[in-house]
Amino acid sequence: MIELTFLQSVEPQPARIPDEGGPAFGHSADRLIDTREKLGVPMAGMTARLLELLEDVQRTLFARAVAFRDDHTQHADTYDAFKQTLEGRPGFVLARWCGTAACEAQIKNDTQATIRNIPLDGTPAEGTCVRCDAPAQHVVRFAKSY
Ligand SMILES: [Zn+2]
Repeated sequence: MIELTFLQSVEPQPARIPDEGGPAFGHSADRLIDTREKLGVPMAGMTARLLELLEDVQRTLFARAVAFRDDHTQHADTYDAFKQTLEGRPGFVLARWCGTAACEAQIKNDTQATIRNIPLDGTPAEGTCVRCDAPAQHVVRFAKSY
């Protein structure tokens, strides 16, 4: 049996051989991540089970990260709303942007927010830039650094 402990640390954690066997299958990635519960995995079929668990943990962590990002993302259509949103709850603001460095610099000067990424979700950039009213080239994610 191999005993695994899933930690939220970024440091890799080696699997270790326990003194005695533990419970086997039936553990969800959510439970393993949240409780750091140890899980016994029989040697027979261990490789396949570990790969399955690691994939499940990765899927779970990714889903949590996406949900966290989405819960902390707001939209702004006007510059007043954009600035007001950035003054309040920290997080991301999705807004249309004309694509010019000058406009990006002015937004940073006004709000301390910078562009974090251009989502590749296919959201069309219809409309005008949130700041300068030029035709938008992208819908981008802004955030302030703390
Ligand atoms: Zn602009």
